[in-house]
Amino acid sequence: MNFKDLARVEIGGRTICLDTSGDVSYISHAHSDHVSGKRKGEVVASEPTLSISGVSYSSRLVHESIRLHKAGHMLGATQIEIIRDGGNFVYTGDFSIADGFTYKGADIIEADELLIESTYGSPEYHFPKKEDIAEQLRREVLSRLKYGNVIFAVYAKGKSQELIKMLNEFCGITPIVGPEVAHVSEIYVRHGQHLSFVGSHSEDASDMFRDNFVGIIPKSQFRPELRMRLMQHYRKPCYFGSLSGWNVKFASDVYDIALPLSDHADFNDLVEYVDHSSPKKVYVFGAFAEGLAGALRLRGYNSVAVR
Ligand SMILES: [Zn+2]
Repeated sequence: MNFKDLARVEIGGRTICLDTSGDVSYISHAHSDHVSGKRKGEVVASEPTLSISGVSYSSRLVHESIRLHKAGHMLGATQIEIIRDGGNFVYTGDFSIADGFTYKGADIIEADELLIESTYGSPEYHFPKKEDIAEQLRREVLSRLKYGNVIFAVYAKGKSQELIKMLNEFCGITPIVGPEVAHVSEIYVRHGQHLSFVGSHSEDASDMFRDNFVGIIPKSQFRPELRMRLMQHYRKPCYFGSLSGWNVKFASDVYDIALPLSDHADFNDLVEYVDHSSPKKVYVFGAFAEGLAGALRLRGYNSVAVR
């Protein structure tokens, strides 16, 4: 059994393709590595996921054998439960059990068969409490903002909105954000999130640029040479920040601030999910799949890593 086979689930003569494109495309959340193409036919996904991902689609499928459950991770992220053969099959996609600042943590679903994504499925990944990270963020940002500008390079979808919320609530700061970050943040606001930010092309931003400011750009636009360009342009120091679970082990020294903020389950959370889900069979995929599947076998589960 491989991931590709498991990710195609037949119900009532239809094939639900999990985070891949096909007859009916299930999109767990709006991150590009789970969207798999912008043009879809029939889809199963939450409304925020469809808005943020920007996919075009013909219709949304609602089926009595399909249930969506919240996955934490980011606005609109879901897990899918499919009732079949007298049992149920659950696919998690990316998820987090802990609440974020802009989302509630995942529901844990009891499953006969569980297909679980293991992004941080190694015991060396243990994430600190988010409130502790927010406190550290406050110290790191405020101490530098006295001397220059602070620019964070983070994912535009999900992580940027967590950062905006932390800056608003823990630092009393309204950041200036790039157009892509502003677009996604506006969708969050339409779904009831209170986020205070200013788009970089707005009139308000041109006033704010005169003082020291905190900016947010998409991670994909970050280049180390930006530091020198911004320092020359604004004639003051420029500090860069990163927020990622990978900073637990691989904090790059191109960043002045590198905090281990993740919107994923860490190793203990993954094990906790499986313990409470109590599946008869577990399929693990993603980074560290072999290690996590082995750890689960030691706990008595019938688990296997799939690619
Ligand atoms: Zn994701």
